[in-house]
This record gives sequence, structure tokens and C-alpha cells, in this order.
Amino acid sequence: MNITITRTENSKLDHIDFNNIPFGKYTSDHMFVMDYDNGDWKDFRIVPYQNFQIDPQSKALQYCQCIFEGMKATIGSDNIPKLLRPDLNIKRFNLSAERMCMPTIPEDIFLKALKTIVNHEKAWIPKEEGSALYVRPTMFATENALSVVPSSSYTFYIYTAPAQPYFTTPVKLITEQELIRAVPGGTGEAKTGGNYAGSLLASQLAKKKGFDQIIWLEGPDFKKVQEAGMMNLFFVIGDTVLTPALSGAVLKGTTRNYFLDILKEKNIKVEVRDIYMDEVLEAYKKGDLNEAFGSGTAAVVSHISEITHNNIQMLFPNAGKTGIATMLYDEINGLRSGRIADKRQWLVPVS
Ligand SMILES: *Cc1c(COP(=O)(O)O)cnc(C)c1O
Repeated sequence: MNITITRTENSKLDHIDFNNIPFGKYTSDHMFVMDYDNGDWKDFRIVPYQNFQIDPQSKALQYCQCIFEGMKATIGSDNIPKLLRPDLNIKRFNLSAERMCMPTIPEDIFLKALKTIVNHEKAWIPKEEGSALYVRPTMFATENALSVVPSSSYTFYIYTAPAQPYFTTPVKLITEQELIRAVPGGTGEAKTGGNYAGSLLASQLAKKKGFDQIIWLEGPDFKKVQEAGMMNLFFVIGDTVLTPALSGAVLKGTTRNYFLDILKEKNIKVEVRDIYMDEVLEAYKKGDLNEAFGSGTAAVVSHISEITHNNIQMLFPNAGKTGIATMLYDEINGLRSGRIADKRQWLVPVS
């Protein structure tokens, strides 16, 4: 696999204040790109970050054959950039590809591309604990044809963006009982942009009512819990941590995966199963619902201060101060910065 490199002549690096980088505001200087045609990935290259030329009739624009991944590269005191369990993202990307009838990417090519671009953009990785270089692998269909069959050609690229810790104040959520993000058999398990477009209206309506985000329930009866916005959802009831089982409509979060592994290792009781709002409400009334939080790559943990369901308000005044969610947050950020030893060998050096 030979990767050609074209360097930018106008690096943006000196113009960026690393103490003030809102999430996704700045992209780094270069990106990795490769194309798919006639059954093969080819033309592996690192080029200056730039626009694509795209046919107005491309199947990405018309039929939304597009998928992506989100992950973080960090750099600790040894000055070697690292990725956290990139195999999970690579496998999930290929599952998304299969669901959307797009070509998969051989794992060795994907990993080499990730390592090469992250190493190339090493100077863009913020050093402060909790900061990271956000890495966004993306694939879209390029064939120009209106027939509703899978595209014959695709472009895959990986761009990166420096990110500061995503300090979120605890969020207020409301359960959504009209709109549906995903159903078993649908595309909810694939990381495809259409799922995001379909979710925007519910978030917008919730914001108008004074909430930050919604909790998705499974239609048509809206009892079973799925996710919180674009994050996986956890509850702590008594001394047990609960998260919904993957039903085909819940995205297989990598952060969810790290959390489940850490909890099991610390001998904390975990239940991965169907969870219903009725039992969550009942636990709250009994005083057993201790915490609720979301998990995702960008924020790692999103603390929840309120959940409203059927006009009943559940409040978590200690959200973000103590508990399992803060322990998990600290564990992941400490691991990435090198403060906590990587005894599980989750970090993969890129050089
Ligand atoms: C990406 C995503 C998540 C979080 O996955 P991570 O791998 O932890 O970032 C959760 N839910 C949805 C719908 C997502 O798209």
C-alpha cells in the first residue's frame, strides 16, 4: 500500500489558538483520501484539506449512500500519538458499509490509513488531558446515475479536527413519544447521515420546550428505552448499571463498549437488557435511581440532571459530581493521557 503525500503550502497551524477550539470548528491541514472503482480501493493519498468535486446526480447526494465514524487520537507524555481500540471503529464502519450496500475496507488498509494521517497531523493533537484530535473517516457514493441500485464508485477519506475537552453541563432530557429514530430491521445500527437528518426534528422540538435533548423510545408503543440523542444511555439503579441491549435499533457505541468492559473488570454489577420507562420511573419513585448518563466519543460522558416522562420529572441534583459516570470519564481520559496505565492494551500507537 503506497500512500503519496502532497503537503499544503499554507499551513493553518500557526493561526489557531489551541486554548480556544470549539468542537469541529477547525480542521487540520491534510486528509487521507482513496477511491473505489471496479471492485478495488486505489489511489491512496494524503492531500491538503480541500473541497471535493461532486456530480449533482451522485448517489450520495440523491440517495444518501454515505457513512462515517468518529474516533479520537491523543498524545501522552511519551509524545507518541495513539488511537483507542481502533479495531472497534473499523469493524463498525464495515458493518455500516454492508447495511448501506457500500464496499467494505480491508482492516489492514483502514488501520494503515488511520495511522498515516494521524502521524502526519501529529502537530495538531492537543496535549491537555481530555483534549484530542477528533478523527472522522467518511465514505460516500460518487456514481452519477439515477437508478436506485448501489453506486459502482465511492470515495473514502479521513479528516481530523483538534478538540478541547467537551465540558458539558448536565443535560435535561424528555422522552420522545411521537417521532422514531430507529426500528429493528431499519438502519439505526449503521452510522449513516440519514439517521442524523431524521433525528433533528425531535431535538429541535425538545429545545423549544426547554430541554437539551430527547430520549428515544421504541415505537410503536414508546415504552422501551433506546438512546439519548446520539449517545448510548446508562442508568444506575441501586448498585447495578443498566444499559439497553442492542436490538438492531441501538447504535453499537464504542464508548458503551469501553464502559461495559471497565465496569465488569471493577466487579460492578451490569445488566445489558431491554429497559422500560415504567421500571425507570418506579426505581426513581423508590429512591433507587441514582444516576443516568449518556456515552459517546465526543463528550465521553454526558451527565443527565433531569428526565421528564409523561409529565413526571426525575431529577438528579448530583449529576456530574460523583458516581459511576465521573469514574468512567476519568478512567477513559486518564488512559488516553497516560495518567492511568494501559493494562488492557487498548491504546494503539500510530508510528
Ligand atoms: C455514534 C453514535 C453513538 C456513540 O457511539 P461512540 O462510538 O461511543 O461514539 C451513539 N448513538 C448513535 C446514534 C451514534 O450515531
